[in-house]
Amino acid sequence: MGKKHKIEYDREGCIGAAACAAVAPKFFEMDVENKAVLLDGKLNPETKKFERIIESDEDIVLAKESEDVCPVNVIKIKLMELAKKKEEEQKANGNQQE
Ligand code: SF4
Repeated sequence: MGKKHKIEYDREGCIGAAACAAVAPKFFEMDVENKAVLLDGKLNPETKKFERIIESDEDIVLAKESEDVCPVNVIKIKLMELAKKKEEEQKANGNQQE
């Protein structure tokens, strides 16, 4: 087992190039609007991005391939520990600004 990673997908920015679905059909499928759907993804209401947690090395490699092929970089693969840290930092910064 690898370390927990998060696939983060920003559907708003998807231009329907279908590259992700071609390399990683396990994670991405095209829908009727010709936009990618992150399979088993959950919408994070705060970020408005779809997320799915993955853990096996095989899945992480595959997900990173989809990140690499997306021409508009709306797929991000993040190490969970780092992603959490960043979110906490952002929240702390946000609170300071209020
Ligand atoms: S590769 Fe990027 S732009 Fe193309 S369908 Fe997938 S998410 Fe959308």
